[in-house]
Amino acid sequence: MHTATQTINPQSIPSPGLTDMKGKIIILSAPSGTGKSTIISRIIGDPRLRLGFSISATSRAPRGEEQNGREYYFITNEEFKERAERGDFVEWEEVYPGTCYGTLRSEVERVTTGGHNLIMDIDVKGGLNVKRCYGSDALAIFILPPSLEALEERLRGRGTDAEDRILKRLAKAEYELSFADRYDCRVVNDDLERASAEVAELIVRFIESGAKEEECASEA
Ligand code: ADP
Ligand code: 5GP
Repeated sequence: MHTATQTINPQSIPSPGLTDMKGKIIILSAPSGTGKSTIISRIIGDPRLRLGFSISATSRAPRGEEQNGREYYFITNEEFKERAERGDFVEWEEVYPGTCYGTLRSEVERVTTGGHNLIMDIDVKGGLNVKRCYGSDALAIFILPPSLEALEERLRGRGTDAEDRILKRLAKAEYELSFADRYDCRVVNDDLERASAEVAELIVRFIESGAKEEECASEA
C-alpha cells in the first residue's frame, strides 16, 4: 500500500496547450457528506453546462447502490498501486488511511476531448493541485455544510457508512473546511435546490465568460 499521502504528475495532466482539450474543468470539493454527489446528480443533465463526470478510481468498497463504472471504478489497493506506478492517474491521494482515490488520465481525456466540461468530485488537496495545473481553465468550487452538526446528520442519514467510517469522515471535516478560502467560490448547501441552482449558475458564468473573478461575485 502507498505510504505517500499525495502525488501529482503535472507532465501527465493534459493542459490546453499540450492536447486537444476543449472543455473546462469544474472542481467540486467538500467534506464527505456535505452533498457534492447529490448536487452533481442534479446538475449533470443541465444542457447549458455540457458536463461530463470524471469517474475516479478508488480502493474503497462500493457503498449503497454504487456501481462500478458509474460512481467510481472500484479497484484493489494492489491494482491502485500498479496503476499509479504506470502513470494512469493525473493525481491521486490517500484521502483516508489505507484508502486511495485518483483521477484517471483516461477520464479527463474522454470527457474533455469530447467537448464536454469535466466535473470532478475530489478531495481538498487534489482539488487545489488540479486548480494549480489548469489555472483559468478550471473553476474550483467549495461546498460548505450549514454546520458540523448538519454534516453529521447527513452522514448518518445517508445510511451507507459504518460507524468507524462516519467517525473518520467527521474527524477530517474541520481540516477540510480550512481549505475553503483557497477555492475560487464557496456555496453553502443548506437548501439543496438553491445550492444546486447556485452551482449551476457559477458554472454557466464561468463557461460563458472564462473570467473567474466575475463568477465569484455571488459567492457565499
Ligand atoms: P457527498 O457526496 O458530499 O459525500 P452526498 O451527496 O452523498 O454527500 O450527501 C450526503 C447525504 O446528505 C445524502 O443522504 C443526501 O441526500 C443528503 N443531502 C444532500 N444535500 C442536502 C441538503 N441540502 N439538505 C439535507 N440533506 C442533504
Ligand atoms: P467518498 O468515499 O465519500 O466517495 O469520497 C471521499 C473523498 O474522496 C471525498 O473528499 C471525495 O471528494 C474524494 N475523492 C473522490 N474522488 C477523488 C479523486 O479522484 N481524487 C482525489 N484526490 N480525491 C477524490
